[in-house]
Amino acid sequence: MQNRYAIEQLIEAGEWISQKGWVPATGGNFSAKTDSGFVVTASGHDKGQLTAEHFLQFDIHGQIESGAGKPSAETDLHLSLYQLDDQATCVLHTHSVAATVLSRFITTDTLMITGYEMQKSLTGVASHEETIQIAIFDNDQDIERLAEKVTARYQHSPLYHGILIRGHGLYAWGRSPAETRRHLEGLEFLFACELERIKLEASL
Ligand SMILES: [Zn+2]
Repeated sequence: MQNRYAIEQLIEAGEWISQKGWVPATGGNFSAKTDSGFVVTASGHDKGQLTAEHFLQFDIHGQIESGAGKPSAETDLHLSLYQLDDQATCVLHTHSVAATVLSRFITTDTLMITGYEMQKSLTGVASHEETIQIAIFDNDQDIERLAEKVTARYQHSPLYHGILIRGHGLYAWGRSPAETRRHLEGLEFLFACELERIKLEASL
């Protein structure tokens, strides 16, 4: 992707994601791969009102090439995902209520989801009878350490569509901005369904 196109796609995604309520209080960050590396949102801006000045350009090794503002601390995790999955061209990181709460409620390292038609919104999933597995990592303010854990787990068994950070949010990725948006929306829908199911079962 050319820089300008990548930034346009992320600005548009930001408006949509913000309307969904998945990036409150300037939270979250977005990136897309470009011909020379990747662009990523600078920290501290309302993700529903981004402009081209709110992006930083990195080379593929994670060195800043251009742009003003402070890079998000979470840039390292975006970089790791691009290095691990060479098909990934876009990463959208959100802080939704469903992802935040569900990742705390599930105390193991994997969220298992089965039985939902909407699982088919995830590339490669053909049936509600399949079980999708979303890795959960404990939150860590040391993003380099967190990125190392994601890398170690990916190398042990590849991760698809997205990962959860406990009490924090979701990182979704895909082979294009459109596919990434579909993965994000599909996963958020499934998380919200699971949350409702758990609440209902607890009240019976
Ligand atoms: Zn975050």
